[in-house]
Amino acid sequence: MRRQRQAKIVATLGPATSSRDTITALFQAGADVFRLNMSHGSQEDHRKNYDILRELETRFGRPIGVLADLQGPKLRIGSFANDAIELERGQAFRLDLDEAPGDTLRVGMPHPEIFAVIKAGHRILLDDGRVVLEVTRSGEDFAETTVIAGDGLSNNKGLNLPGVALPIAALTDKDRADLDFALELGADWIALSFVQRPEDIIEAHELVGGRAAVMAKLEKPSAIVELDEIVALSDGIMVARGDLGVELKPEEVPGLQKRIIRACRKAGKPVIVATQMLESMITAPTPTRAEASDVATAVYDGADALMLSGETAVGEYAAETVGMMDRIMVVVEQDTLYEPTIASPEATSADAISAAARQVVETVNASAIVAYSVSGSTTLRAARERPEVPILGLTPKVESARRLALVWGVHSVHTQDAHDFVDMVRHAVALAKDEGFAVPGERIVITAGVPFGTPGSTNTLRIARVY
Ligand code: PGA
Ligand code: MN
Repeated sequence: MRRQRQAKIVATLGPATSSRDTITALFQAGADVFRLNMSHGSQEDHRKNYDILRELETRFGRPIGVLADLQGPKLRIGSFANDAIELERGQAFRLDLDEAPGDTLRVGMPHPEIFAVIKAGHRILLDDGRVVLEVTRSGEDFAETTVIAGDGLSNNKGLNLPGVALPIAALTDKDRADLDFALELGADWIALSFVQRPEDIIEAHELVGGRAAVMAKLEKPSAIVELDEIVALSDGIMVARGDLGVELKPEEVPGLQKRIIRACRKAGKPVIVATQMLESMITAPTPTRAEASDVATAVYDGADALMLSGETAVGEYAAETVGMMDRIMVVVEQDTLYEPTIASPEATSADAISAAARQVVETVNASAIVAYSVSGSTTLRAARERPEVPILGLTPKVESARRLALVWGVHSVHTQDAHDFVDMVRHAVALAKDEGFAVPGERIVITAGVPFGTPGSTNTLRIARVY
């Protein structure tokens, strides 16, 4: 089963897509990686979905990436006596530590450490910015505010304090429990929400201990300040435009999307563009033209993958949305204006070989690159070159194959352990033909580290003819 595009699709699972049939439909429509969103659903729900995904892998013979997305320290208000309230602009509204259900004058906000940093003049955004409060007075267990915008609030809505560095750990108790669960399950990627500083990634790596790849969701201004260091420490990055557009201004997000993608392209780290890509398809069978354009822009910008959230988790047209995204992406990649920028190679043998592979492909008109890499690290460097032909990422490690499902241009294949280089070349040629990447008479370019068994030793390029 071969995709006709190089950029990938991440689909979030949820109530609309938690049966074998609906998840199969998402996969067949084009989803390459599936997100288990720990902010919603029970661990049992996620386990059920995970098991279905692994069944699909066997059925279709294709590695599938599973991204477990930790909720992170997302601040939320408490609930209301009547579940929801109406608000009027200019009215007073109070946040406090009282656990009693809220009303039109106050609601609980169970985060004492936050009251310690709230000051008069700060703006508090609720419900993704639909409600704006301005703080007039605060104390250690309350904040008095004036409603600047918004006309209503309901239970447990999220809360952002734009521009305020919060004295909170990157991982809550719930995150630690979800992380243990996700690792035990076998998730391939762990995403951290509300990353604020490089230390957050270091802490996560210590907990994950190499059992999964670590992705930083960029949704706080403080993370943007240390962008290059966070990119260097992470295995992948998500441009989390939902919270980013609340923490910063919406008009700052498009430029940041380009800056973040550029930083990731330079570092050779996979980058996902996320949130509201085809939002209106949650309830409609076709997207707005602005949404189609947004999906296209992310591909033109050079993202590795685009993500669907509510569209597939709760949408009425989940598989149709994946299909729509797939079609937009395919058309962009055929456009003559689509010219992925080529990052210049670093002074390593893996980069020298990867850059050479891209050039050799053009010179001999080869139809694919085959990168044999146990950890997948050289496959990533080959993708960083943005070659014109597909990359078959061969690895004997199923975990590597699954992680690579997220990466631009990589058709990952879990293959048997090769005895030696000659054995691997024979295998690569057979696979390129079987998987539909080359027909007899065509050439492929193979990269590997010889002798086998030393990680990070890519040093060999071979041109082979398919017979
Ligand atoms: P979320 O993250 O969906 O977990 O909030 C993505 C975003 O904020 O854009
Ligand atoms: Mn978010």
